[in-house]
Amino acid sequence: MSEMIIKNGFVFDPLAGIKGEKKDIGIKDGKIVDASEVKKGKEIDASGKTVMAGGVDIHTHVVGPKVNVGRLMRPEDKLFRSRTKERNTRMQMGFAVPSTYATGYAYARMGYAYVNEAAMPPLHSPHVHEEIRDTPILDISAMPVMGNNWFQMEYLKQGEIENNAAYTAWLLRATKGIGIKCVNPGGTEAWGWGMNCLTIHDPVPYFDITPAEIVKGQIQTNEFLGLPHSLHVHGNNLGNPGSAETTLDTLKLAEGITTHNKFGREQVLHNTHLQFHSYGGTGWGDFESASQKMMDYVNKQKNISFDVGFVTLDETTTMTADGPFEYHLNHLNHLKWANVDVELETAAGVVPFVYDKNSKVCDIQWAIGLELALLAKDHMKCHLTTDHPNAGPFTRYPRVIKWLMSKQSRDELLHSFKYADKVIDATIIESMDRELDLYEIAQMTRAGTAKCLGISNMYGGLTPGMNANVAIYDLNPEDMPKDPEMIENAFSRAAYMIKDGVVVVENGDVIATTPRKTIWTDAKYPLNELVERDIREKFLKYYTVELENYMVFDEHVYNTVPLEVESPAA
Ligand SMILES: [Zn+2]
Repeated sequence: MSEMIIKNGFVFDPLAGIKGEKKDIGIKDGKIVDASEVKKGKEIDASGKTVMAGGVDIHTHVVGPKVNVGRLMRPEDKLFRSRTKERNTRMQMGFAVPSTYATGYAYARMGYAYVNEAAMPPLHSPHVHEEIRDTPILDISAMPVMGNNWFQMEYLKQGEIENNAAYTAWLLRATKGIGIKCVNPGGTEAWGWGMNCLTIHDPVPYFDITPAEIVKGQIQTNEFLGLPHSLHVHGNNLGNPGSAETTLDTLKLAEGITTHNKFGREQVLHNTHLQFHSYGGTGWGDFESASQKMMDYVNKQKNISFDVGFVTLDETTTMTADGPFEYHLNHLNHLKWANVDVELETAAGVVPFVYDKNSKVCDIQWAIGLELALLAKDHMKCHLTTDHPNAGPFTRYPRVIKWLMSKQSRDELLHSFKYADKVIDATIIESMDRELDLYEIAQMTRAGTAKCLGISNMYGGLTPGMNANVAIYDLNPEDMPKDPEMIENAFSRAAYMIKDGVVVVENGDVIATTPRKTIWTDAKYPLNELVERDIREKFLKYYTVELENYMVFDEHVYNTVPLEVESPAA
């Protein structure tokens, strides 16, 4: 195949501890090699530019049924100006919920190589894999949702971790999923009856198990199997004033549990979009930031990681497997509402939302996200996300980077708010001087996310042997621009993006596409007779599909790369 050398760039590679050193990067046959091994081939001049590994997004909603409901119910989302067709691309439609083609191209333009779809309903995994097939350039994994699954609630109620592990390994194989996702544990099943679980001790109707028991049991199951990623949690009581208390209760469930895996992961619990779970106050009148209290706890825990879910202050679309939350949101804003309950498994809701910069509540949400990231002590465990598209579209990541790197840009925006005084009273953002550097940004967007997902042997770094995914940005770390807008511009349009050794973006334009990979976890822990019988019985009695048609067919999954996990010693 091909050889390539990237010369004289300032390299930021936190997985290898490289902090802006001037260094050449070699590429051979789609893998990173030592620069001395490259004798011929293309030469890219990166002098005066920043070189990072391809970005890795740990939490985004880009493929599957609820995303497509969002596209269908919001034709007006296509009235935002779409990008005109480029010479080498298909059509690109949608602002907050872009089409599959638009999604792949837009991530590539920002220098991203890998995204993790955050919520796949197991029954609908073929839909997810069909959309993965149509998403260009990106490697993709998907997390099956398992916080309200009938099998698992029954096993965990009885404390049967090994049976739950056997079912989980089977479900990952059946859906070609990467790991365990829990959304509003127990609460989404309660929503099947129009109810919710707002604390971690509210029992689930009929199942008589609590969210706390589900979360703890799923952590134990995950570590028993030794999966690459940890349990990935969206906790109870999302988006309500006072949610910080529920979140701290949830995080404390991980205390004393150590990880057991061969993938280099250090956490046993990943809390997603922590911003929505860090609210103080008792109502929207006295709503305030609880970021300091949250980070006082999180900074001390070695076995917890989180992504932020930054609010970008846009008109967007919310979509989550948290059915009761979406219904509640619809009652607050009276916009369109879609809901889908999935038999024996989960649910989902979709509601448009306008994060208006003249709203005190929205501006406090904006401040909380930034505060969490600026208070974090270790950015390997604090990741840049917007819970796309819930807190804003992923295309705003460069804007979030600008806010994190420039106090001036934060202050200008803060003082332009209609209720700036009230926002300043309810938050600590105005007093924060910290500006993150390019090394910390690389931790938040590639090194940390890859490590937490358990894929840092292939993604998120530039060590020889890793996949040759390289992003080059037109930013000189020795002469950073005075105007913060230049930071946003540089991260919006990569000077070059190289995917598996092929230049796919040049000067912010897509010039080529490459084959992609679907990453999933092949946990070899076998089914036992009891779990096999339970599966057969539930499919006979309760599912509307047959067991033989439930498992996604091999020919429906695009170019799979399994992460193999040997079964734990008996
Ligand atoms: Zn999400």
